[in-house]
Amino acid sequence: MRLRGKKSKAAETIKDVTRTIRENKLKSRSSVSSWLFLVLLYSSSVLLVFLANKLQSEYVYQGGSSASAFNRTFADRSMEHIKQLSSIGVRMIGSDQNERLARDYLVRSLLEIRAKANGSVLVEVATQRTSGRFDTDFLGGLKNVYSNVTNVLCRISPREGSKSRSHALLLNSHFDTSIGTRGAGDDLSQVGVMLALAELFVTGKQHMSHALILLFNGAEESNWLAAHGFISNNSPITYVTPGEEAGNFPNWADSVKAVVNLEAIGSGGRELLTRTTSKSSSLVEAYKLATAYPRGNVVADEIFRSKIFPGETDLSVFRDFGRIPGMDIIFVENGYGYHAAEDRLDRLPPPSPPRE
Ligand SMILES: [Zn+2]
Repeated sequence: MRLRGKKSKAAETIKDVTRTIRENKLKSRSSVSSWLFLVLLYSSSVLLVFLANKLQSEYVYQGGSSASAFNRTFADRSMEHIKQLSSIGVRMIGSDQNERLARDYLVRSLLEIRAKANGSVLVEVATQRTSGRFDTDFLGGLKNVYSNVTNVLCRISPREGSKSRSHALLLNSHFDTSIGTRGAGDDLSQVGVMLALAELFVTGKQHMSHALILLFNGAEESNWLAAHGFISNNSPITYVTPGEEAGNFPNWADSVKAVVNLEAIGSGGRELLTRTTSKSSSLVEAYKLATAYPRGNVVADEIFRSKIFPGETDLSVFRDFGRIPGMDIIFVENGYGYHAAEDRLDRLPPPSPPRE
């Protein structure tokens, strides 16, 4: 009985071990299939995004004789500003190139644009030296303290209308660079577009109901300092155009209702709407309506949220410290030159704003 008992116990133990091995094999097989499924899902998503981008890029405006006069002029003006600013050299925060030369070029250009304004709009040009501090959760948590970073501002508003200056759309780009690059793509390409847009708005015949504020910020690469300085309203702005200030609305930041952040993590292709910080779809709808060739992709937003890509933009600062909804519109192609010496003028494709 005892021997038999021992035998049957041993047999049961062998059975248990065999069962466990079989179960482990099954688990391991199912774990392998889960991984395989995830890899396949990821690869097919990447492939789909790549193909979608390729197909959409077919519509890139290339300039040349087929381009309309308007597009040629807009493109030439944008490119001229990019050339001039790029010739200043690397523009790191605190450098003379950034704090004086680039700032002075922008102010000069905006004053020249202002001189062309038709009578229906008020054009104000201002600068800001701003200081402050703030915390972000970027890379596990960063404390930022800054002093005297530079902003150049232009507000274009209709002379008529009670709400013309109390409701403004903010357009933002940055003219500073990271180490060792002239930043022709990041972010001069967008600075050039904004300057050309300013000229279009002050000389065009289009009707404006609300103000447009153009913020050329001089400290994005060192963790979005200048954007924070503007939106937290912690330093006064200095008008370059005295006598024209809109006395009722001296705090420009308070009037901002939405922001379009123009960025680049590459230098070419078509601009891509990568994310919005609005809780509703209203901004996406407005973008779709106002854009001749809208182009957006939720994958970019997912990448930002997952924190796989260690990057952030001024848009988060406007959201977190100004409670302002907005969208990131970014150049993403030719990313190999991003934050590198290769981000230079001769690698920048012809400007391509296909808007009529
Ligand atoms: Zn940038």
